[in-house]
Amino acid sequence: MSIDLHCHSTVSDGALTPAEIVQRAQANGCTLLALTDHDHTGGVAAARLQATQSGITLINGVEVSVSWRGRTIHIVGLNIALEDERLQTLLQRLRSGRLQRLQSIAEKLAKKGISGAYEGTLALATNIDMVTRTHIADFLVNTGHVNKKADAFRKYLGDGKSCSVKHQWAELTEVVAAIRHASGIAVIAHPMRYDLSATARRNLFSDFKACGGTAIEVHSGRSSLNDRLNYALLAQQFGFLASCGSDFHRDGDFSGGLIGCCPPLPPICQPVWTDFT
Ligand code: AMP
Ligand code: MN
Ligand code: MN
Ligand code: MN
Repeated sequence: MSIDLHCHSTVSDGALTPAEIVQRAQANGCTLLALTDHDHTGGVAAARLQATQSGITLINGVEVSVSWRGRTIHIVGLNIALEDERLQTLLQRLRSGRLQRLQSIAEKLAKKGISGAYEGTLALATNIDMVTRTHIADFLVNTGHVNKKADAFRKYLGDGKSCSVKHQWAELTEVVAAIRHASGIAVIAHPMRYDLSATARRNLFSDFKACGGTAIEVHSGRSSLNDRLNYALLAQQFGFLASCGSDFHRDGDFSGGLIGCCPPLPPICQPVWTDFT
């Protein structure tokens, strides 16, 4: 049994369509999958159709952008009711903020002599409603301003880099509340990727717990065994369930794993999916 509760399609910044994601996951032996596009649930219906045909179980999901104490944190919502108005209103607000952010980043790029980033990036977005820094990085690669995507983040787009803009995403409390309102389970995505001090991490976990968060990803992408053991212990200490996800975007990505394939969780974990199956 292989489980993957975090991945992306062309509805956000992934390279495969929702149906292709399900087919690839199934081919890799996955039996339980959640599609978790950034701030958007528009791919889930097509994924569900394919999941029925492919004979795998699909969980409704989303990965929500949060600003927490000045940092960007991602919260995955699993098993959410897609039609929930409160959650959808929140996601819509996050998406419209993205176009404003693109405009600000494009203005900064223009000052560096890189023109046309707004239109150029929109032309590349697979979903005009969901423009991410990945698409801006694609624009910079395609126009020859950088050689590869990682350089676009290193030079221009990464947090604190020359053309980054501080963006206000949603509050942690309102995101957890909206996920719960949609009968879902809130999960801290890839906690090992935020570069937090032990104190900051404790604060994040306590704040998340206090507002009704349920789980953390003990495995994400290409996590090490050491990461998994560490986060399994932290989950136990804080009373969190454990989730796992490839965070797959495309083949050969910088941090994503293979779609549909996650290593087993350490035995002390209480898996989040016992509630789904
Ligand atoms: P956004 O939500 O628009 O800020 O975009 C964030 C997305 O950019 C993440 O979900 C990743 O897929 C991608 N990303 C972030 N940092 C990097 C990086 N250093 N190299 C490649 N992709 C990145
Ligand atoms: Mn992404
Ligand atoms: Mn993420
Ligand atoms: Mn992700």
